[in-house]
Amino acid sequence: VQISVLVNLEAGDHRVALTPSAVTRYAKLGLSTLVESGAGLAAGFSDEAYAAQGAAIVSRQEALTQADALVTVRPPAAADLAGVRPGTKLIGGLAPYADPARMADYASLGVEAMALELLPRTTRAQAMDILSSQANLAGYHAVARATTELNRCLPMMTTAAGSIVAAKAFVMGVGVAGLQAIATARRLGAVVSATDVRPETREQIMSLGAKPVFEDIRDGDQLTAAAGGYAGEMSEAYRQRQAALVSGHIAMQDIVVTTALIPGRPAPRLISDAQIATMKPGSVIVDLAAESGGNVEGAVVGEMVERHGVKIIGLVDGASRLAVDASNLFARNCYNFIEAYWDKVGKTLAMAADDVLIEAVTLTRGGMIVHPRFVQAAA
Ligand code: NAD
Repeated sequence: VQISVLVNLEAGDHRVALTPSAVTRYAKLGLSTLVESGAGLAAGFSDEAYAAQGAAIVSRQEALTQADALVTVRPPAAADLAGVRPGTKLIGGLAPYADPARMADYASLGVEAMALELLPRTTRAQAMDILSSQANLAGYHAVARATTELNRCLPMMTTAAGSIVAAKAFVMGVGVAGLQAIATARRLGAVVSATDVRPETREQIMSLGAKPVFEDIRDGDQLTAAAGGYAGEMSEAYRQRQAALVSGHIAMQDIVVTTALIPGRPAPRLISDAQIATMKPGSVIVDLAAESGGNVEGAVVGEMVERHGVKIIGLVDGASRLAVDASNLFARNCYNFIEAYWDKVGKTLAMAADDVLIEAVTLTRGGMIVHPRFVQAAA
């Protein structure tokens, strides 16, 4: 069985789903690896580094036609998969909600596309969870980026020339990215506060030394069911109460990081243009949900814009900018997924269609879209 990785043709993402250290792990299992020449370059891994661990450096055509499984950070375009053998597994970040048409392409190519974004949040799946491994780094980078754009420093300083007051940072959405943003801002000495719609995050915020800013949730606030640790969509009444609470608060902040996501739906709008106008000129907002529709009015995907003197960053490449660590963690997620189904005796990838995790992630099989969430969308 061979695992392949291709050069990522999607511009702007530096990550790679197979790293030299993953090559070693696969080899220990008895799986060989094929690397399209140059696949790791953007992440800082040379062909030589892969070869030194035992990977074969090959052409795209070979990587495609010899592979039993392809691992990927971003969904490859169908044209880039031309020549792939039917039945080949395509495993990794496939952004299933972003482009349903691509799913139909994968079906007609005959690949078994498995989107690791769709793994449930269970203990068993934790080690394979690409959303968590990448969100953690993105949360860190969001604060790192904000500090370089901010016109002041984060920690309190007492100097001979006078003292500097600590900057204030506010994190909206306290999932994996938000928790890391809180921790990072705290490490740099900011006074940190945070909010979420999930009440259990209150304690997590305090355990990181930050202040929870909470609007209590009342009957009827939750429009869509919250399941599996994810948030549901909130009512207009809740949004208005939250907006009122947040308004006074964000006016005092130097940095605001927003990370609120609802799976399969557009990101909730948390900050309006009118609220931005209340902030101090020179303050910085980082919107980590920009790619999913944006938490912040006026945020532009992949760009920094200025509104009312406030810098708004629609951050999309937080993890990609930390490509070495991001790739190593991503590659480890893919490896853990494959390893869980590797039949050491039969030397095959035994991914039974009725296995809970396989069922959760499989988009296409046998030339058809099979995932219940997407079958209808495509019809
Ligand atoms: P996410 O990326 O889906 O969303 C980010 C955060 O935004 C969430 O905390 C969500 O509650 C919040 N949010 C949504 N709407 C909001 C609104 N209107 N206002 C404010 N906040 C809003 O979440 P995530 O980072 O994937 O993490 C969610 C939870 O799942 C966490 O508790 C995390 O620890 C847990 N988790 C568990 C596993 C596992 O056990 N395998 C894996 C990943 C995450």
